[in-house]
Amino acid sequence: SVDASVIPLNQGISRLQVLVILYDVTYLRQVEKMQLDFVGNVSHELKTPVTAIAGFAETLLNGAKNDPATLNKFLGIIFDESKRLTQLINDILTLSRPETNRTVQATVALKKLVDDALRNLDKVIKDKQIRVEVAIAPDLQVVTDERKLTQIVRNLLNNAVFYNRLAGHVTITAQVVSDHLLLAVADTGIGIPEAEQARIFERFYRVDKARSRHNGGTGLGLAIVAELVKGMDGRVVVNSQVGVGSTFTVTLPVGQNNRPA
Ligand code: ADP
Repeated sequence: SVDASVIPLNQGISRLQVLVILYDVTYLRQVEKMQLDFVGNVSHELKTPVTAIAGFAETLLNGAKNDPATLNKFLGIIFDESKRLTQLINDILTLSRPETNRTVQATVALKKLVDDALRNLDKVIKDKQIRVEVAIAPDLQVVTDERKLTQIVRNLLNNAVFYNRLAGHVTITAQVVSDHLLLAVADTGIGIPEAEQARIFERFYRVDKARSRHNGGTGLGLAIVAELVKGMDGRVVVNSQVGVGSTFTVTLPVGQNNRPA
């Protein structure tokens, strides 16, 4: 709704300009609502780990610390919850930092970038006996924003591993086709119901809240991917079938650099 009195129709403003003003107002209201929703969600999400940390610490102080097994278990939970809190704060900062939109171009060796990202997941890949295949030419280089691409790859790999089944597979492919990088991360995990596939890129949207939390998820990984990809004028799409697996494909306009790094 718009207050017509704020529009000076009698000052020679064309019909087109009036339409632009109306659109702007609606857009600003939408942005305002999204910001309020986000703040509400953030507060709620922050409360969960903080409540757990406070609760377990209090129980320990009230005497539970005298039982070594309980002490160990509760300290483990407190440690895990504080790690989740840190991750949550980092993700929120990533989404709110204006630099998220600033681009720093550099020559990036793609296979190395993926291998480095995989190293962070070494332990869970071993524990879950996941077979990882990186199908990227060792000499493939692109000119892009390395920090942003790293974050995109990390978030997609995290999910491909965490939502995978025991002894599942993860396949990463990348190629450059007419100035565009096509990067795909495929898994043989639980899959995503079709009705949810569009929503998983929303902030804090999760198909299964309990499972996401158990994996240490913040519900922001794909929202960050979507935001970064959009800022780089790219696209991200998901192809998924429940019980079979998911493939996330990112398409980014990139420069090419054929000189050795
Ligand atoms: P989370 O921290 O919950 O993983 P994300 O934003 O990364 O947050 O993902 C949002 C939701 O999308 C997840 O909670 C999960 O339900 C679903 N999802 C994301 N990636 C995958 C995947 N590779 N396989 C199955 N489900 C996935």
